[in-house]
Amino acid sequence: MTTVETTVADLRTEVRRFLADELAAGSFRPSCDSWIQGHSAEFSRKLGDRGWLGMTWPQRYGGGGRSARERFTVIEELLAAGAPVAAHWIADRQTGPLLLRVGTEQQKQAFLPAMARGRLFIAAGMSEPDSGSDLASVRTRAVPTATGWRVNGRKVWTSHAHRSHYLLALVRTAAPDGDRHAGLSQMLIKLDAPGVHVRPIEVMTGEAHFTEVILDDVDVPQGMVVGAVGDGWRGVMSELAHERSGPERYLSTFPLFAELVAGRTAHGEAALADIGSATARLWALRALSVQVQDLIERRSPTDTAAALVKDLGTRLEGEIIDITRRACRPGPDPSDSGPLRTLLSEAQLAAPSFTLRGGTNEILRGLVARGLGA
Ligand SMILES: Cc1cc2nc3c(=O)[nH]c(=O)nc-3n(C[C@H](O)[C@H](O)[C@H](O)COP(=O)(O)OP(=O)(O)OC[C@H]3O[C@@H](n4cnc5c(N)ncnc54)[C@H](O)[C@@H]3O)c2cc1C
Repeated sequence: MTTVETTVADLRTEVRRFLADELAAGSFRPSCDSWIQGHSAEFSRKLGDRGWLGMTWPQRYGGGGRSARERFTVIEELLAAGAPVAAHWIADRQTGPLLLRVGTEQQKQAFLPAMARGRLFIAAGMSEPDSGSDLASVRTRAVPTATGWRVNGRKVWTSHAHRSHYLLALVRTAAPDGDRHAGLSQMLIKLDAPGVHVRPIEVMTGEAHFTEVILDDVDVPQGMVVGAVGDGWRGVMSELAHERSGPERYLSTFPLFAELVAGRTAHGEAALADIGSATARLWALRALSVQVQDLIERRSPTDTAAALVKDLGTRLEGEIIDITRRACRPGPDPSDSGPLRTLLSEAQLAAPSFTLRGGTNEILRGLVARGLGA
């Protein structure tokens, strides 16, 4: 093995040991969709204390100075185990890297160390009631004041805004003037600031993991715009590459798949063929996702490949549910209170969101087609 492979293998063993200890201590129950629905500030703090957040960020900003491959190893183990990682997910996956790329020195020092310790959580404020796929049409406005900006508008489907410290909001700071991507900016807004109203939105599971955020004359001080004023579109696009390409886009139902493979259900020939096919596709997606992480690290374009990971990956996440249903036909034994039944029902309730969040699959296929020269 090369030195890199040894480091990664040792790290994987360390993460698995940590997860086994946490499971034994009852600190979490493996669940599907744990990167969206599994919110535990305490678990995120534990990861931060172990140096498993902000892993690739420079050490002078509280990061680990480690490789993208090492970070990938940690997050795929956490997701495969269905561990509760939602609290820090946005900060670790996209806001931190964005700040490193275009943030001011002051912003880096103020935000990154606390994010890397799992003490500062960020919500992503892109979507609005009439602006989801067409993000450039956002209507939340920020106008300059003597001390910074005054913001008015409404964000929706904002995951965990009621449990986060800041919202990174995409807002209009100037008229588009012919180019609809111009005049947009991203700013960090304190979620307990006067004028910020966060309303949880209940989903089918009865949980409320996402919210509506009303911004009513919110004063945002100078120094909170991330990147140049008016250049927010570029920042959002770079975040979306991180958002679409990671292992969370094909592992949301992996705890169900692992339970199906390892569990008590007897597998007929058809089920074995389904399982084999899904396993092969998981490996192919993993290879593609690893490649995108390498491209991101080298700052190469990733839009098309990232869109492919999300389109193919989220479809596979849904198919794993179908495979499980077919394998268990006519359904898991109602008297079985084991994990398969619970995982299947939570996966089914989460499934409608797989192909929506982070950009719908129709939009992604358009991106892939354009990327391939259509
Ligand atoms: C679980 C979950 C968590 C989320 N978390 C966040 C978050 O934290 N922050 C955030 O900002 N947003 C979040 N979102 C919102 C998500 O990004 C949007 O739902 C998504 O971008 C789609 O936007 P929309 O819901 O407005 O649908 P629309 O854009 O209205 O689309 C409706 C339908 O029309 C189709 N469509 C639209 N335009 C086209 C087109 N040009 N060509 C072909 N088809 C088209 C779409 O594919 C879709 O099927 C979350 C969503 C979910 C489900």
